[in-house]
Amino acid sequence: MKYFRIPIFLLSLSLAGLLSACPQPDREIKRVQFLMGTQVEIIARGADDKQLEQAASKGFGEIERLDFKLSKYRPDSMLSRINRQAGISPVKVDDEMMMLLEKSLQVCRESQGAFDPTILPMLSVWKIGDANPSPPGDAEVKEKLKLVGCGKIVLDQDHQTVFLPEPGMGIDLGGIAKGYAADRAAGVLKENGVKSGLVNAGGDLTVFGVTGKGIAIGIQHPRYREKIIGKVYLKRGAIATSGDYERFYIFNGVRYSHIIDPRTGYPVQREASVSVKADTGLIADAWATALFVLGREAGLKLLQSRPDLEALFLEPSGDFGATEWFYENMTWGQAAPRED
Ligand code: AMP
Ligand code: MG
Repeated sequence: MKYFRIPIFLLSLSLAGLLSACPQPDREIKRVQFLMGTQVEIIARGADDKQLEQAASKGFGEIERLDFKLSKYRPDSMLSRINRQAGISPVKVDDEMMMLLEKSLQVCRESQGAFDPTILPMLSVWKIGDANPSPPGDAEVKEKLKLVGCGKIVLDQDHQTVFLPEPGMGIDLGGIAKGYAADRAAGVLKENGVKSGLVNAGGDLTVFGVTGKGIAIGIQHPRYREKIIGKVYLKRGAIATSGDYERFYIFNGVRYSHIIDPRTGYPVQREASVSVKADTGLIADAWATALFVLGREAGLKLLQSRPDLEALFLEPSGDFGATEWFYENMTWGQAAPRED
């Protein structure tokens, strides 16, 4: 089994793009670290190298801090404490966790349950991330699905607690954490004197302060990793991608992706990837997952009433669909998909 997680990458062009974006030949550094189970890249521009180095290292530190808090794999994370108390007792959490859960519930409602932070029991049943995964039986899927539903989460604002009322329930923030981490790291860079730059947390990117044309972002072909299907330029805001090639297993010739449709309990088969542009990484990330579940047709319909979101859907067949912004701003590469 192979794990991939580099859905969007920066073109080598991006450096030139960023450099040409400002008239003054400011300093620029690019650093990479493996955090949150993925490759995190920071590009920072500012007055002097030492300041940029220190800022980048604080940016990575911020992502590490979030990993300690939000990881479902770390038994001592705040998230694991919530999950361990499922069916037992409410758990006191901090402002940040409260905010993340509120946002998750909001996207859950707005996406008609396509994005659902209570998906954890289904990920276990499908053995996503296991060394030797195999699909479960239909009865098991049906049984475990009873534990899923964001409406079940009890958030108590007054006491700042979270309660999962049924034993076996569990929260997973994998669909939102990297985008949020990119936002936070970008915030730390800014606070530390970085004028412009980018944080790319495994394909979930937040860009800030870039002038001129913007920074070039390559959208990867969902089946040929070395190819890009096109590029867009961004000066600020975020683009996140959910793909069935990021994490999956193949069993008896069938591809099982890591994104589960909470309405059925089965891994989504329709899309190959969905890229979303939004003001923040948190929102782009959550909606990339949500729209991956909804699929092109239902997704584009929903987006008609969401001027704050833009999306590009790529299907395994090579077909694609997108909202206006992508049509207007995308420069297609040689591996561009065909249109219906
Ligand atoms: P992303 O790469 O942002 O689309 O996030 C995918 C990750 O989100 C998966 O690896 C799971 O941890 C989690 N996940 C899977 N299905 C869903 C879903 N329907 N809603 C919310 N999170 C999900
Ligand atoms: Mg996501």
